[in-house]
Amino acid sequence: MIIETNNERETYEAGFSLGETAARGEVFALTGDLGVGKTVFTQGLAAGLGIEEPVSSPTFTIVQVYEGGRLPFYHFDVYRIGDAEEMEEVGYEDYIYGGGVSLIEWADLIADILPKHHTKVRIEKNLENGFDYRRIEICRY
Ligand code: ADP
Ligand code: MG
Repeated sequence: MIIETNNERETYEAGFSLGETAARGEVFALTGDLGVGKTVFTQGLAAGLGIEEPVSSPTFTIVQVYEGGRLPFYHFDVYRIGDAEEMEEVGYEDYIYGGGVSLIEWADLIADILPKHHTKVRIEKNLENGFDYRRIEICRY
């Protein structure tokens, strides 16, 4: 599925609808360059899960857990991860095979250890379509 957005709100809403329908155990693998809208998308998804707490990138923690929604939400930002072993140390597998919904920003950095079934979300700019244009490709594996 491809969604095209032209402002932050539309990207948030794309995330919101995925959050509303996300199933227990679902893993979202999010990729895209810095500033493309990964966190905006994630904030929408969290809101769609019913999480009211503000969601920001878990810069210092790798993973941030939100319990207030329809399902627990595990938000990873693996930008600063060194290797797969480090993911093990933060309890990666316990989360992704646990009873919540996981979302991993910069998932391409840990492509080797993504679960077989996951939902890829790739966000890209295309400056020919304007500075605020984003193409969001969603693909289930
Ligand atoms: P990332 O987490 O990928 O580094 P952020 O979500 O933190 O990126 O930031 C995205 C930035 O791009 C925000 O400042 C947002 O206002 C801006 N922006 C402009 N157009 C869009 C759009 N269509 N969708 C999402 N964000 C947009
Ligand atoms: Mg971010």
